[in-house]
Amino acid sequence: MWRAVRFIVIAALLLVLAWWIGGLPGDVTAVSGPYRVETSVPAALLILVLIALLLTALLRVLGGVRRAPGGVLAWRGGRRQRLGEIATQRGLVALAAGDAAAARAEAGRARKCLGDTPLVLLLTAESARLAGMAEQAQEAFRQLAQHKDMGFLGHHGLLRHSLAVQDHEAARDHVVAAERAYPGSAWLQEQKKALAVRQQDWGTALALTRNPAEIAAFATAAASASTTPQNALAYAKKAVKASPGLAPAVVAYAAALRQVGKPRAAKKALAVGWKAAPHPLIAAAYLDPLATPLERAQAASELAAVRPNHPESELVLGETALAARLTGEARRHAEAALATHADDGRATDILARLEGKLAHAGSDAGWVCESCQTRCVDWAPICPHCQRLGTLVWRAQQ
Ligand SMILES: [Zn+2]
Repeated sequence: MWRAVRFIVIAALLLVLAWWIGGLPGDVTAVSGPYRVETSVPAALLILVLIALLLTALLRVLGGVRRAPGGVLAWRGGRRQRLGEIATQRGLVALAAGDAAAARAEAGRARKCLGDTPLVLLLTAESARLAGMAEQAQEAFRQLAQHKDMGFLGHHGLLRHSLAVQDHEAARDHVVAAERAYPGSAWLQEQKKALAVRQQDWGTALALTRNPAEIAAFATAAASASTTPQNALAYAKKAVKASPGLAPAVVAYAAALRQVGKPRAAKKALAVGWKAAPHPLIAAAYLDPLATPLERAQAASELAAVRPNHPESELVLGETALAARLTGEARRHAEAALATHADDGRATDILARLEGKLAHAGSDAGWVCESCQTRCVDWAPICPHCQRLGTLVWRAQQ
């Protein structure tokens, strides 16, 4: 509506203007040296308008030419951007393929095209790490850590490195910084746990796990490291609750109970542990307070009665009978242990000693890491070989 009105008004004005110009009286004369141009006023005005239009068009073209170099630059910039992106993509693929040299080359190319963008820094750092160039990797991770949105990845790399080189002080700082950059990260929880374990800060490690094997392992270690009997008792109780069959936990619990003056409860805890999983450590703890071989043989009968016919029960009966010079009993139990086909050398050893031989075949039984199958003489909360947590289990035979 308004458009139509505007059009009519403008058309009317132009018509009036044309009519007015057309009716202008007089002539225009231009003289330049020998040339003389003579025309009417309306024609002169028309020529003026045409010249103005021509000049405007010419200026437009000139402006376009002036802007043209900027256009070339922009085109070249876009090409660099694309090349940089391609290098980044190729670098990431090389990283995943474990090709350190190619990843480093692509990282260099990407850096040349794009500068130190967060993605280029990440590629630079990870490819340096893959190539074993820790110093360069650290530098790139440090730069990345300054970035607002991708800072977590920088702290991620720095934390991983400080844990690997066992720099616990630095690791703690990176944990704090990473937590600020990305609160509630599951990965970070795992790292915090690993750090606590390395520092043998069992209380913190315990608070960071829900895995029963880890709870039992950390709580047993915490009980052994406790400075007060009450703390030791609380931790040991937790360990036994998490894994009733873990002998070191059962033994730690009994030891803590004895420490707080509860020997009967300690005996009961050991019997309960024996019922869950008979183990030489439990037998040793059960017999430990007893002085004479006969007392020990009697206590062994009590304990064995909890799991009759179990090879460990027969073995503890055989060993104590041998020590108390009850040779007939010793032979009977050693043979019973042998008959279970679960002998690890100890039953044969008892029989040999009964015949006056000093045959120390030694035991095949031992602690084995469920993860890497490494054998260990003593139980530990962490596998000394693969560093996994709570993976050592007792194996009667290898
Ligand atoms: Zn292992």
